[in-house]
Amino acid sequence: MGVGVLALQGDFDAHRRRLEELGAEVVLVKKPEQFDAIDALVIPGGESGTFLKLLGENGFAKLKDFVRAKPTFGTCAGCILLATEVENPKQAGLGALDITVRRNAYGRQIDSSIRAGLFLGDPIEMVFIRAPRIERVGAGVEVIATEGQDAVLVRKGSTLAATFHPELSDDPRIHQYFLQIAENGKRQGS
Ligand code: GLN
Repeated sequence: MGVGVLALQGDFDAHRRRLEELGAEVVLVKKPEQFDAIDALVIPGGESGTFLKLLGENGFAKLKDFVRAKPTFGTCAGCILLATEVENPKQAGLGALDITVRRNAYGRQIDSSIRAGLFLGDPIEMVFIRAPRIERVGAGVEVIATEGQDAVLVRKGSTLAATFHPELSDDPRIHQYFLQIAENGKRQGS
């Protein structure tokens, strides 16, 4: 299965390594035409505003079509891009997940931290870097992982978004979970 990693900016290489370790065939996506050649996509962390600039109108439209049709996993800035509503400041979202996300929500002091959360009920390390907070989870969006009271990994169908960076921990479980979703999506021909 060909898994694309959006490689415009940010920490796409750590995702590439993890996905390859798990046996996926990875394509670094730099041009909109490459969306046609992949079965699933990871949108990495970085700066969501910069992603929007680099994508431009055409890239944004192509990405929007892709994320509605195929399995997609967004981490941190990628999670922000997938949301319906983005605050602090307001910016466009792809609308693939009905969530409201507040950028840089943890303030300067705990700007970046490693915390323990729960993934499907089991403890897991979570690396937060200038993380957004999911402030509203819409109908039909499942909370898959939490940190304290916060939803930090959410899913609707084959769209998955994390406010943390699973590619920076040694634990492969979150990427495995996404690859499973992507495999199922492929079998259903969606
Ligand atoms: N603060 C970034 C943003 O608002 C996200 C940070 C990250 O991806 N590590 O887009």
